[in-house]
Amino acid sequence: MGTSTGTGDPVITVSGLRMRYDSFEAVRGIDLEVRRGEVFAFLGPNGAGKTTTVEILEGYRRRTGGDVTVLGEDPAHAGPPWRARIGVVLQESRPERDLTVAECLRLYAGYYPSPRGIDETMELVGLAGQADATATRLSGGQRRRLDVALSLIGDPELLFLDEPTTGFDPSARRAAWDMIAGLRSLGVTVFLTTHFMDEAEHLADHVMVISEGRIVASGPPGTLGGRQRAAAEISFTLPPGASVAALPGPVRDALVAVRADGTGGADHTLLRSARPLAVLGPLIAWAEHEGHDLPDLEVRRPSLEDVYLALTEPGTDALHPEAPRHSEAT
Ligand code: ATP
Repeated sequence: MGTSTGTGDPVITVSGLRMRYDSFEAVRGIDLEVRRGEVFAFLGPNGAGKTTTVEILEGYRRRTGGDVTVLGEDPAHAGPPWRARIGVVLQESRPERDLTVAECLRLYAGYYPSPRGIDETMELVGLAGQADATATRLSGGQRRRLDVALSLIGDPELLFLDEPTTGFDPSARRAAWDMIAGLRSLGVTVFLTTHFMDEAEHLADHVMVISEGRIVASGPPGTLGGRQRAAAEISFTLPPGASVAALPGPVRDALVAVRADGTGGADHTLLRSARPLAVLGPLIAWAEHEGHDLPDLEVRRPSLEDVYLALTEPGTDALHPEAPRHSEAT
């Protein structure tokens, strides 16, 4: 996971897509390409235009401008054979009343020309032990698995997953991630909409961020928004008796904040530098020389969430060194 294949043929191609609702333009000229076999994560704040875009790609909504090709066809004009090649998992679904998991799958399998096997599909989503359970009695997480199973029963080439793990507990999320990774290894192309940065980071080959109808960043999760070049954060607690003034020059130059712990105890020190070794070297040499230990020393590069917030929240710049914001140092 997380490694872009980059070699598959395009499964989705979008150019200059626009969508206007009356006088409001929700999607303002976006371009994107999804390649076969990749997990593509589409992120953005509430109201950014994600659902509008996805519904256009799925053929459920007519666009007002631009070109869209999904599996070789324009979704606005594609027919049932095209639809059978696509799986859609919506955020909410209503399972068939009184049917078991296996019966639901059998019913849906009848709608497709060459469905996936029922046992194989249950296995794929981790519902093999629930074949005879009534769908309406499943837990929330199991029901979500059934939703995914129903979208996979037609053996789709392309799967749209809308916030697949919202409401899941941590272990159910991990299980869902394994399942999505399993789909990827079967060659299914996954278009994932999510609000969870760790989910995108874990699963996606490519991440695209939309904000106010425009694409603000696009790339592999590790390099999104210039993340790999962004400043690293270094933090540690000042050893007892040490003061900021005693720190070596390169360390003081990188200082962003010093926060007192509020009880008269040690100060927590935050540094930010685009060249962390140039700060860490003098810091460690100083600590060794003075006989200090720095037991909570931490070096962290910006998380995908930091990048996302910097891209989507005006006035937030989490990625670059900045002037001290807050200092309570003596
Ligand atoms: P969320 O994360 O909250 O689901 P989203 O990124 O999916 O948001 P959209 O649902 O695509 O956003 O909405 C984009 C914008 O278009 C919003 O301002 C929304 O109010 C508006 N919008 C969506 N559907 C319609 C509609 N049918 N008529 C008018 N405006 C709409």
